[in-house]
Amino acid sequence: KPAEIPGLPPGVDDQLAGEGIEELYPPQAEAVEAGLTDGESLVASVPTASGKTLIAELAMLSAVQRGGKALYIVPLRALASEKKTEFERWEDHGISVGVSTGNYESSGEWLASRDIIVATSEKVDSLVRNNAGWIDQLSCVVADEVHLVDDRNRGPTLEVTLAKLRQINPGLQVVALSATVGNADEVADWLDAELVHSEWRPIDLRMGVHFGNAINFDDGSQREVPVEGSQRQTEALVGDTLDEGGSTLVFVNSRRNAESAAKRQGGVVERRLDSDEKADLQDLAEEIRGVSDTETSDDLADCIENGAAFHHAGLASEHRSLVEDAFRDRLLKVICATPTLAAGVNTPSRRVIVRDWRRYDGEFGGMKPLDVLEIHQMCGRAGRPGLDPYGEAVLLSKDADTMDELFERYIWADPEAVRSKLAAEPALRTHLLATISSGFANSREGLLEFLEATLYATQTGDDGRLESVTDSVLAYLEANDFIEREDGTIRATNIGHTVSRLYLDPMSAAEIVDGLQYAEQNRGEEAATSEGQRERPAADEEAEPEGFVSASELQTDAEDGSESETEPVDDSQPPARPTPLGLYHLVSRTPDMYDLYLKSGDRETYTELCYEHEAEFLGRVPSEYEDVAFEEWLSALKTAKLLDDWASEVDEDRITERYGVGPGDIRGKVETAEWLLGAAEQLAGTLELSSRVAVREAKKRIEYGVREELIDLAGVRNVGRKRARRLFEAGIESRADLREADKGVVLGALRGRQKTAETILENVGREDPSLEDVEAVETETAAVA
Ligand code: ADP
Repeated sequence: KPAEIPGLPPGVDDQLAGEGIEELYPPQAEAVEAGLTDGESLVASVPTASGKTLIAELAMLSAVQRGGKALYIVPLRALASEKKTEFERWEDHGISVGVSTGNYESSGEWLASRDIIVATSEKVDSLVRNNAGWIDQLSCVVADEVHLVDDRNRGPTLEVTLAKLRQINPGLQVVALSATVGNADEVADWLDAELVHSEWRPIDLRMGVHFGNAINFDDGSQREVPVEGSQRQTEALVGDTLDEGGSTLVFVNSRRNAESAAKRQGGVVERRLDSDEKADLQDLAEEIRGVSDTETSDDLADCIENGAAFHHAGLASEHRSLVEDAFRDRLLKVICATPTLAAGVNTPSRRVIVRDWRRYDGEFGGMKPLDVLEIHQMCGRAGRPGLDPYGEAVLLSKDADTMDELFERYIWADPEAVRSKLAAEPALRTHLLATISSGFANSREGLLEFLEATLYATQTGDDGRLESVTDSVLAYLEANDFIEREDGTIRATNIGHTVSRLYLDPMSAAEIVDGLQYAEQNRGEEAATSEGQRERPAADEEAEPEGFVSASELQTDAEDGSESETEPVDDSQPPARPTPLGLYHLVSRTPDMYDLYLKSGDRETYTELCYEHEAEFLGRVPSEYEDVAFEEWLSALKTAKLLDDWASEVDEDRITERYGVGPGDIRGKVETAEWLLGAAEQLAGTLELSSRVAVREAKKRIEYGVREELIDLAGVRNVGRKRARRLFEAGIESRADLREADKGVVLGALRGRQKTAETILENVGREDPSLEDVEAVETETAAVA
């Protein structure tokens, strides 16, 4: 019984029993046996849905009980708040929980007071770089989905972060949760941890391939599922599950496919719904529409009316949780999902269909088969313990050969081994600079010694490769003035420190610095021909040491309503002042921004746009003969244009349509741009460049999604881009105006929403924000808006 687990805070056992957890699952019991609740490090390599989260919770709770502090590292930002919500039920037992997301450069000191902290590995890495005070108080760290160290983009950060945390806190308990992988023992070796490796599952899983008119299962059995008329295999299988009273999770390889599949499945489900279910689904659809006013929201609601939904990283998190809850409550019968988030979200289902086992891979240059590990993770979602006799996971094939291949490739196959990707250059570039900058190492030898503590070193006997990439990365960092070497000692330069603290890829920083300096040179030439016309930047700008103004300080400035923030320093020389589009393009060119793909026809559109705006770019436009470089320039331009639309108050819906993206994508791009522009602003400060004010303004516009004249208003809490525009059109153009304006006009501009209007007036610091008995006055312009 959980009651017998040693070392937990009082009341935890009752809480668990209340949740139906009366006994530990075998892998959990094994973990406790291995010392999980006594601070022992552990690698748990067990199948999906076998209770890894509880293993983590037991470790964290017992660490807190011993007076320590625990950190839970999630692989995706979108999962951080979900985990936090899950852990918050421990707050009744006196345990505080905090989540750290966003804003890479803050050190998050407030987290020092939390017992359990949830963060992404990128965030933790940056907290280490910024020397967050509480990092050395950690006694337990959990790495969720540790097999992702194999991921070429995000893996190295997780790997280096774990190595650093262990170096900072020698007694640190590391609990690494992993899907079943081929070499969990190597991972355990690396982390000096006990290993729990198990194939145990709480519910039996049968895997099979649907071909012709039947599913062929791995145990040799068959189930007839005929495909009739113009039906597709997935539709036949969803219908079949539903007739048995079950629900289906369909995995596809892209967001668009998820949406179109959900639309089609609605047809299958709708026919089988009773009137109560239809009414409940109507309500849910309304709730979904209420979350946001976008096309995705509408599409999702339309699908949901028919009992089907789509699920992918482009959905707003409120949408996602509504969908997941309704699926768990069996109101929704089908979810068509991309695997990105589904791996981390607990949505068991009677049947899982893996429709697509290949995915487009840009680097690979075509459709690439998924890893066994990924397919097994999706299949693992099949079967709801206590509800289903067993779970079924089905792959699809159109011919006998493919069926055989699928059995070989996935069903009979063991998952791959996890391999470190640390020796890749972009990863080392970032992490070596950070290691030097934060003082972890100050010589080539010191760096190599630190690298010895990584999985890479554990896995490779050959130091030669690590040494040679290290040398070439050091040469790159030195050539870009991010580090200096003297008598074998390596130090980060001012700019190098800034880059590391800002959490930039040094290559992004180099691109930004080059771009800003390019602008400066242009300005220099302009200034020479028109001497004396240009004013120097405002005096307070000059006085700041090193230009180290943190984003949060700026925020406070703006909220004070200090208007000098938004005033352009100098409009007399338009060509010399970087334009927002020029700056958006600059940050979109960096490797830290994922650009939009060029679709057919885009090449022409953006080539034209490129020449129209040639003078605005902060750098030389590659010639059309430099094929790859030109193409990259154009896709950065497409991204920049999206950002420019956003900052010009174009409707979200219009943007999603124009660029073929979801609202979640807009938010993602906007956040990345905000961060990169914040970084650019600080780099401009460190280098004492005059473009700093222009950068700040471009950043503010992105932050609020408004034109210049609304920056002041939109910064008031609860105002936002749309309301700011309506206020402006009603003649209220600034915070000062808002504090003085006729209350009826304010109420009219805010469409008679009394509560909202009062909150806003309060936030702007109006003396008497009450709107009791105030009549809304519709000004003419407001009515038009
Ligand atoms: P994983 O992280 O391994 O994919 P989860 O931690 O999400 O799996 O667990 C899957 C489900 O199993 C959760 O709903 C959890 O509440 C439940 N669960 C975990 N441990 C037990 C247990 N010992 N007894 C009953 N249910 C459990």
